[in-house]
Amino acid sequence: MKIGLGFDCHPFDETDGRKLILVDETDGRKLILGGVIFEGETGLVGHSDGDVVAHACADSLLGASGLGDLGQHFPDDKKLESQDSIQMLKEVVRKVRRAGFLVENIDCVVVTDHPKISDKRDQMQKNLSACVRAPVSVGGKRTEGMNVGKEGITCFAVALLNETENKY
Ligand SMILES: [Zn+2]
Repeated sequence: MKIGLGFDCHPFDETDGRKLILVDETDGRKLILGGVIFEGETGLVGHSDGDVVAHACADSLLGASGLGDLGQHFPDDKKLESQDSIQMLKEVVRKVRRAGFLVENIDCVVVTDHPKISDKRDQMQKNLSACVRAPVSVGGKRTEGMNVGKEGITCFAVALLNETENKY
């Protein structure tokens, strides 16, 4: 068994001084967490689509398998700006399986004061579990007004891998 810790955070998109205000789809980045679109919520800045949950999961898998970190496999690049992070996570799962590991499970904690993730938790878990082909649980944690919970979204993930004889 191998265990890995993943972490990621992205700030909210504050283009034009907007902060924590509603933006429509055509007027800003969409907020996407665990492959689920949070309609009407401020999106996150970052390369790819800014899905911190998918990124933290991928980071935990790479850490557990000793394959490095997410930045090594997906360097910052304009071409990746709107990349679907669920596809990035799938690519990481393929690399991990090729290295001879099967994913046992991943547990994530999403740190944010807004929006609430509880309404979309089931869909996030479903998306992520299908993607890594193992159970993925997602929990939410508020920071009770501390800046870290207001300026962006942070996610921690812990992955457990099983080393096998087979390279998939
Ligand atoms: Zn990220």
